[in-house]
Parts: sequence; structure tokens; C-alpha cells
Amino acid sequence: MENAKAKYRSADETVRIMAVTKTVDPDKINFAIENGFTLLGENRVQEYLSKKDSYLKTASVHFIGNLQTNKVKYIISEVDMIQSVSGSKLANEINRLAEKNDKIMDVLIEVNIGEEQTKGGVDAGALDELVRSTAELKNIRIRGLMAIPPIGCGEETFEKMHRLFVSLKESRIDNVDMDILSMGMSGDFELAIKHGSNLVRIGTALFGARNYKNGGVV
Ligand SMILES: *Cc1c(COP(=O)(O)O)cnc(C)c1O
Repeated sequence: MENAKAKYRSADETVRIMAVTKTVDPDKINFAIENGFTLLGENRVQEYLSKKDSYLKTASVHFIGNLQTNKVKYIISEVDMIQSVSGSKLANEINRLAEKNDKIMDVLIEVNIGEEQTKGGVDAGALDELVRSTAELKNIRIRGLMAIPPIGCGEETFEKMHRLFVSLKESRIDNVDMDILSMGMSGDFELAIKHGSNLVRIGTALFGARNYKNGGVV
């Protein structure tokens, strides 16, 4: 990360790292926290709920997986950000429950930048409208965008994502802080940093290959 940052970005910019903790044992996660990681990413509601009480409390937690509307209630008071808002139905439910919990929920809008049918996220063409409608919701604060570029995709996909981010930032929509571009994983974080990411989400490169025993995890 430091190499990519030095090569492609200016010294005054910050790129944060998230430790993606799906399938990882709490002991290992706490070891990462003790060694300086302050941000965790969780994908699955059930798994997170079963592990969260063992985590050291010094790290904040973002939800980064596909989120069904009927599961928002389990995490609304547990996480500091939901990075995977991909439609207005989900946004409305987050807003409703955030209000009930007396909190403003930070969110990122997830963009399906590779236009993959199997992936979550809003299509680039519908992004502007979703950002504008979500910005009207009083108990949600949009902090930026999240994307999972397809494995092996060309650099232009990263570039396109960065352009969407910059263009929305320049739109200066009320109640929208376009500060976070969450993009880049173990296999592509250098490219993501090259193209404007300021939050990379790393699992495998930190914790090793995931164990698929629980039935197929992304
Ligand atoms: C699993 C996952 C990651 C981390 O992927 P690695 O390739 O293991 O680094 C990042 N973001 C999301 C949304 C994920 O589901």
C-alpha cells in the first residue's frame, strides 16, 4: 500500500486500510486490532452477530456485504457504517430504523461498476438518482461510494469508478459528503489506489485464504 501510495498519490492524501474479517476467528481479529488495525469489515449478519461480542472494542466496524432489508434491524445499532446501500428500499429501511435508534447512519452507495448480474450495487446510470433520493433521508448521511471491480477487469473500470466519485463530489449535493471511495481488495488494491481509492478492504492478504467450510463465502 505504501509503495502504491508513494507512486500514484500525493503525500497529503490518506488511504485507510480495513481488515475484512469474514470467516476469521475472533482471536486472529483481536491480534490484528492489538497490532494497530482500527477498522473491520463484516459481510454476513449472522456471522457478525455470533462473533462481535468477542471483539476488542477499539476498532470500528463497517458492514460491507449484501444486506437484505429485513436484516437491517440486527445491525443498525451495531455498526458504524453500512457500505453496501444499493437501492432505495434498503435506504428507506436504514433511515427508518436509524431514526428509531436515535442515530444518524453513515452509508456508502455501492456501485455495480462491472455491471455483473451476480453482484450487488446500483448501476452507474442510476447512481445519481439514488444518491439524490437517499440524501433526502434525515437519518442517513452519505459518505461516499463503494465498488468491487470484477476480478481481472481492465484499468478503465477503476478509472470509470473514480470519475463517478469525482463528478458526484463536484455536484455538492446537500447532505452528501463524497469523501470516501472504498475500492480495492487483496488482488487489486494497487490499481484501486492508483485510481483514487482512499479505503481498501483487505482480507486474504492479511489473514490468509479463507476457509470455505461454511458453505461458500465470497
Ligand atoms: C471478501 C471481501 C473483501 C476482501 O477480499 P480479499 O480478496 O480477501 O482481500 C473486500 N470487500 C468485500 C466486499 C468482500 O466481500
